[in-house]
Amino acid sequence: MPDKITVYSSRENANGFTIKEFLFRNLVKFDYHEITGDTLPFRTEHSAEDCLPAVEFPDGTIMFDPRLFTVASKIGLQQKPKEECYDLAVMGAGPAGLTAAVYGGSEGLSTVLIERHSPGGRIGSTSLVENVLGHPKGITGKEFAAASREQAEKFGVEFIVPVELKTVEKENETLRLNLSNGSSLLAKTLIIAAGVKYRLLEVPGADRLTGAGVYYGSAMTEGRRSKGKVVYVVGGANSAGQAAMYFSRFAAQVNLIIRGKELEGKMSEYLIREIHDVHNICIQNNSEIVRVNGDTYLESIDIRDTISGEVRTNRLDSLFLLIGGVPHAECVSDLILRDEEGFLLTGHRLEEDPRFAETWPYHRRPASLETNIPGVFVAGDVRKGSAKRMAAAMGDGANAIQQALDYIREMEKSKTIEAFHTENPKTN
Ligand SMILES: Cc1cc2nc3c(=O)[nH]c(=O)nc-3n(C[C@H](O)[C@H](O)[C@H](O)COP(=O)(O)OP(=O)(O)OC[C@H]3O[C@@H](n4cnc5c(N)ncnc54)[C@H](O)[C@@H]3O)c2cc1C
Repeated sequence: MPDKITVYSSRENANGFTIKEFLFRNLVKFDYHEITGDTLPFRTEHSAEDCLPAVEFPDGTIMFDPRLFTVASKIGLQQKPKEECYDLAVMGAGPAGLTAAVYGGSEGLSTVLIERHSPGGRIGSTSLVENVLGHPKGITGKEFAAASREQAEKFGVEFIVPVELKTVEKENETLRLNLSNGSSLLAKTLIIAAGVKYRLLEVPGADRLTGAGVYYGSAMTEGRRSKGKVVYVVGGANSAGQAAMYFSRFAAQVNLIIRGKELEGKMSEYLIREIHDVHNICIQNNSEIVRVNGDTYLESIDIRDTISGEVRTNRLDSLFLLIGGVPHAECVSDLILRDEEGFLLTGHRLEEDPRFAETWPYHRRPASLETNIPGVFVAGDVRKGSAKRMAAAMGDGANAIQQALDYIREMEKSKTIEAFHTENPKTN
C-alpha cells in the first residue's frame, strides 16, 4: 500500500494535469506516474483510456477520472461552512484575500475564506518572487501560500476549498453568499479579492490542447517534465519573465515570445537583466502565435512576424501562456458596479460613475475600497485602478479590513439607536 497519494496519468490527459496542479497548489504530497501504453500498474477491468487519470490514496482507494471536489473531500479539505453567519467573508485566497483574512481573524472577526482552487492565488503558481519586502532571497509561491494559510488558521480563519462563490444577495442587513456546492452562508461584510484569470489565447488549436502541452501560467508541476526539451513562454510582463527563468533550469531551450520590440516597459529591470544573463533563453520579439498544432498532444506552433507578416512553424514540447488577465468578477456583476472591462468600482472611481447616485443608499461617501453595496469591499487585482502587484494587493487586503471594521461599528451604532427609540417611544 502506498504511503502517499499517487497520480497515474498520460501526458495527453488534461484532467491528469488539473489534478496534479490542484494537489501541488494545495500543498499535498504526491507521486506522479506517467502511463505511456495500455499497461496499468494497478488491477482494473477498465482500459487505460477509460480510467485515467487515476488517483491512489494511502488507504488503498483508487479513484478513476475524479473531479476536484471528490479528491478534495478525500484529502479532508473543508468544503462547507461551519457557521450560519460570519462577521466577514473573503472571496479568493490570493495575496489580497489572505492578508484580509489574517487581519480579520487577528481583529477578532469571525472570518471565512472561500477559494475556488487553492490558497496563494496567482502568486501560488510562481516559482520565485524577488521583489516582496522581507525576502531578500525571494520567496516561492508555494512557500507564500503555505505560510499565509498557517498564519490565517492561527487566527481562527475558516478555509472553504475548492468552492466557488456563485451569487451574492442582500438579506436585510446581511449578505447571503451562495456557493458552488449548493451550501450558503450569511456575512455582515464581504471582501471580494477574486483577482484576475489568465487571458485565453484565442487561436485555432489552443483550446483543444490545453492541458496537453499547452498550459496557462507557469505550471511548476511541468518543470521536471521539461528536462532537455524545447519550451515556449508567451508574454512580456514579469509573470512570463519569471516563468522563462524557471523553465530555463530544466529545458534545453526556452523561447520567450513577445509581441513588442523589446522587454523594457512591462517587465521589471532586475528580471530583464537576469533573462539576458541566461544562455538558454532566447527572446523572439515582434512575434505572435497564430495557430497551435497537434493531434492529441502539442506538436508545433505557427508564429507570425508582426512586422513582415511572415508565418513560420516551430516544433516544441510545451507552451506556457501568460498573456495578461481578465477580472474574475462575473458572479457579483448583478450587484456590484464594474467598468467596461469588468474591474470592480470602489471609492472615488465609483462616485465618478453615472450609475452611482441611483444605487448608493447613504448620505456618507463610500470608503476608498467600498463598492456601491455598503459593507462589500474590494481588494487586489480585481479592483479598478489596482497596481497588479503582490504587495499592493496585500495592502488593499489590510485596508479593506479597517473599512469593514468601521462598517460593522456603524451598523452596530445604528442598531443601538434604533433599539433605544423602539424601547423609548416619543410621548406627547
Ligand atoms: C506568474 C506570475 C508571477 C508574478 N510575479 C510577481 C512578482 O514577482 N511580484 C509582484 O509583486 N507581483 C507578481 N505577480 C502579480 C501578483 O501575483 C498579483 O498582483 C497578485 O497575485 C494579486 O493578488 P490578488 O489576491 O488580488 O489576486 P489573485 O492572486 O489572482 O487571487 C485571487 C484568488 O481568488 C480566487 N477566486 C476567483 N474567483 C473566485 C470565486 N468565484 N470564488 C472563490 N474564489 C475565487 C482565485 O482562485 C484566486 O486564488 C505575478 C503574477 C503571476 C501570474
